[in-house]
Amino acid sequence: MSDESRSAETSAARLDSISFMGAEHHPVVIVGTGPAGLTAALYSARARLAPVVYRGPQPGGQLLTTTDVENYPGFPEGVLGPDLMMKFEEQASRFGADLRYGTITAVDLSTPPFRLLVDDVTPITADTVIISTGASARYLGLENEQRLLGHGVSACATCDGAFFPDVEVAVVGGGDTAMEEALFLTRFASRVHIIHRRDELRASRIMQDRALSNDKIEVIWDTVVVDVLGEAEVEGIRIRNVKSGDTAELAVRGLFLAIGHNPNTEVFREWLDTDEIGYIRTRPGSTATNVPGVFACGDAQDSVYRQAVTAAGTGCMAAIDAERWLAEREMPGATALPAGADASRPSAFDAVDQAG
Ligand code: NDP
Repeated sequence: MSDESRSAETSAARLDSISFMGAEHHPVVIVGTGPAGLTAALYSARARLAPVVYRGPQPGGQLLTTTDVENYPGFPEGVLGPDLMMKFEEQASRFGADLRYGTITAVDLSTPPFRLLVDDVTPITADTVIISTGASARYLGLENEQRLLGHGVSACATCDGAFFPDVEVAVVGGGDTAMEEALFLTRFASRVHIIHRRDELRASRIMQDRALSNDKIEVIWDTVVVDVLGEAEVEGIRIRNVKSGDTAELAVRGLFLAIGHNPNTEVFREWLDTDEIGYIRTRPGSTATNVPGVFACGDAQDSVYRQAVTAAGTGCMAAIDAERWLAEREMPGATALPAGADASRPSAFDAVDQAG
């Protein structure tokens, strides 16, 4: 049995044993509080849909693990990631979004009202669900990497970089994240080795130039990490050149993974169409999924742009899509089409409804 079918079975079994009699019901439930979820919360709160928002295991999303954000429009001097997300929360709360701690651990999206389970114990139901669960960092899958996680192994330089003053560290990956993490680490570490499995970086030219021109950064090309060394803390890594097959040890005290992300969509995959990695498929030009009334936004459905501003944009779309969906069905909580919506136009999910 695959992991996916096992988790689907567990999810269904969990719901079967839970009574939904008297469960709280909401017009809109939003799952996840990164830029996408909090923008969806803002728009649906302003549409008077009383959205309930579950923060999940990483409240604030990936920007909470970031320091300077220089590419979010409206902040010419830049803004700290946690400060930006605090402002998102304040703005959504100001209009009445009900932000709660809790993780959605099982769902039944077969038909509205949708059934959801919070933290394995609390049942709730919803007319519409907006999924904004984002994505999480990938790891290499080495046994010692997992054993030493938090003891020198990290997937977030901005969170943990300060713990490595005047020592050598390694960053794995060749994308923009790897360049960004390596540059950030030069503030603390004496030397930063970027370990990349090819002889060409994937990162944008500007990020490559910044990293490669930094005296503290060295790239070790065509190389992979095959083991992490150390008992209680990282004391080094074993690396292998993929062309020559030669192995070597590198005495680093920190190992930072920057090899991409996985979408946090496991709990929904039983019900929703996804790509092979697990990114939720949405109808082009809309946030509609294959289940009418369920919408997806942010990194959970975007493997291409993955920016805070694009996540916020799709969060806005999801709120408008959900509001229109409720209004067209004259469901409770939906009193009017949102500002700017044209009721005479066919909606983005008409085709989904017809197909479904
Ligand atoms: P990417 O998918 O762009 O890059 C991942 C890197 O990790 C690639 O170089 C890949 O190698 C490598 N990799 C993947 N799996 C493994 C593995 N198992 N072992 C070794 N290496 C591996 O992810 P990023 O997180 O870097 O970027 C994601 C998106 O976010 C991009 O669109 C990026 O532009 C954007 N971004 C933008 C920033 C900015 O503008 N400031 C900052 C950070 C991210 P290979 O190249 O061989 O596939």
